[in-house]
Amino acid sequence: FEVLPNDNPASDAKRQELTDKPAFGQVFSDNMTHMSWTKGEGWSDRRVEPYAPLKLDPGASVLHYAQECFEGLKAYHHDDGSVWLFRPDANANRFRNSAKRLYLPELPVDDFLGSVAALVKRDAAWVPTRREYTLYMRPFLFASEPFLGVRAPEEVDYCVIASPSGPYFPGGVKPVNIWVEDTWFRTGPGGTGFAKCGGNYAASLVGEYRGIENDCEQVCFVDAATKTYLEELGGMNMFAVHKDGHLETPSLTGNILPGVTRNSIIQLAQDEGRDVVETMIKLQDLLDDIKSGEVTEVFACGTAAIITPIGHFKSEKFDVTVGDGGSGEYTVATRNKLLGIQLGEIEDPHDWMWKV
Ligand code: PMP
Repeated sequence: FEVLPNDNPASDAKRQELTDKPAFGQVFSDNMTHMSWTKGEGWSDRRVEPYAPLKLDPGASVLHYAQECFEGLKAYHHDDGSVWLFRPDANANRFRNSAKRLYLPELPVDDFLGSVAALVKRDAAWVPTRREYTLYMRPFLFASEPFLGVRAPEEVDYCVIASPSGPYFPGGVKPVNIWVEDTWFRTGPGGTGFAKCGGNYAASLVGEYRGIENDCEQVCFVDAATKTYLEELGGMNMFAVHKDGHLETPSLTGNILPGVTRNSIIQLAQDEGRDVVETMIKLQDLLDDIKSGEVTEVFACGTAAIITPIGHFKSEKFDVTVGDGGSGEYTVATRNKLLGIQLGEIEDPHDWMWKV
């Protein structure tokens, strides 16, 4: 990547303030990575340039037909001053799958890794050093060709931007209330559920706000076809812990995002000798199992919060407390383990961490 000069970076004092007390997603580092793609030339113009508004033609087809996909991963500061990424190759592969689903060109894995690493290196001073604080990296790809017509674009842009972020739970891990949404869906069979594309999140907002109106922090979607099976939260996957120690998680039916955190938790559980069952989980069965004590903990997982205990499931028809409504033992232990690996505090048994 060619690194372009930046004449207007934040002052040291300003940057320090923004990385010490980050407001998630509102502040961006000094630079961004940028690449271009055209049908004739393929990928070109790899550059790290000053962070600035994009020049976009009002006719750019992403603004009309939403041909866009994105990723989310974090850069972690370790005590020895080094900076690391967690399984960025998994994000690179998922990014390719998302692009393919939207008929967008697939970014080669090496370009994904190179673009993220180039920005982390350029803006290394933006990686927060306080424990559990990270630099959140947001790669995204969109159809920039000015063209009103629904077809595959002939011009595409790819960028990476970075935002310093603090711990998801500044006051310590707290269980959340989940709204089970069975009227509005984010996706359906044959849809885009497995792709990380903006449209899924736009479609999830009506459900998210129904949850907020009902005192819930997050929404859980059930399958659109039968309204019977649990899928995932608006931005996290889900696990149930059974009293014999085995885990169950909704299977990758195509409707849900294959989370990197989900996959890592499955691996860590199997390392401990636990059974992990990937299956279609009936909402009613889960509620019954929580009430009978068969299921002792339920948690959500994703890059942002790592692991979030679920305290209650609510809907118009029920309000069910999981366990005693607190943070379960396995949930907390697994969160600490994954966080420990990410921060370089405990051994990384699967070579998940990538040094930048
Ligand atoms: N599901 C959805 C819909 C998400 O947006 C995310 C966050 N990327 C996840 C699950 C969790 O994925 P990951 O563990 O890769 O962050």
